[in-house]
Amino acid sequence: MHLNDLSKIASNMSSTDKMPVLFLGHGNPMNAIEENEFVQSFRKIGHEIQKPNAILCISAHWETNGTFVTAMQNPPTIHDFSGFPQALFNVQYPAPGSPELAKKTQEIVTKTHVELDTKWGLDHGAWSVIKHLYPNADVPIIQMSIDYTKPPQHHYELAQQINSLRSKGVLIIGSGNMVHNLRMVAWNKLNEEFAFDWASEANEKMKKYILNGDFQKLVDFKSQGIAFDLAIPTPEHFLPLLYTLALKEENENITVFNDKPIAGSLSMTSIKIS
Ligand code: ZN
Repeated sequence: MHLNDLSKIASNMSSTDKMPVLFLGHGNPMNAIEENEFVQSFRKIGHEIQKPNAILCISAHWETNGTFVTAMQNPPTIHDFSGFPQALFNVQYPAPGSPELAKKTQEIVTKTHVELDTKWGLDHGAWSVIKHLYPNADVPIIQMSIDYTKPPQHHYELAQQINSLRSKGVLIIGSGNMVHNLRMVAWNKLNEEFAFDWASEANEKMKKYILNGDFQKLVDFKSQGIAFDLAIPTPEHFLPLLYTLALKEENENITVFNDKPIAGSLSMTSIKIS
């Protein structure tokens, strides 16, 4: 399929059944090229759901002053990490962009001014997981940045304003990790299923709030006690979850998958709303 055809599909953005919403725990960038149970689940989700017209991804790895959406026709694959094998730097994920979807997103968000970006691309928070869902890189993708100057409530309300895209065949993906404390990683258990007590406590509480629809407690994550403080030392890996939850409608269900701790201070816990 030619890129022009793809951009036509996106620009038509005809109404479809409401697309699900995903929060994907991306974990170690090596998941992009390793075979394990997490990537198998991503692949399964890709087969399970209707193929989207386009993807809008909120990645933990794009923080900006203000809100931006990528608006280039061909977003470059960004290798935004260091100290990994050359094989990971060699990965290219040549999915097209969708300037049309970027403009549409800019139009429907009134909570803040959304700016069109032509400098970013796809960071590993996006491509390391989306490549497993759509290995042929044949679904156009835009990223929406996380404004680091804004409080959690702002992100939650901003996300609600993009809900209508779901009926246009747009798959909205938040990519981060619910429990994510790199300073406390158990380096001797890097690839092991292992959680510190505070990490299990935080992950279990988060799941409880998610499944009970108690989202405000998650928006207020800074006042949920020491386990949450340790699990969320900085907000960027957690905020994509809030973007995802904000899109849930009353008649929808939440499925949890990849619910495993890794390296003591990370969780791969992911959700599907449909
Ligand atoms: Zn990350």
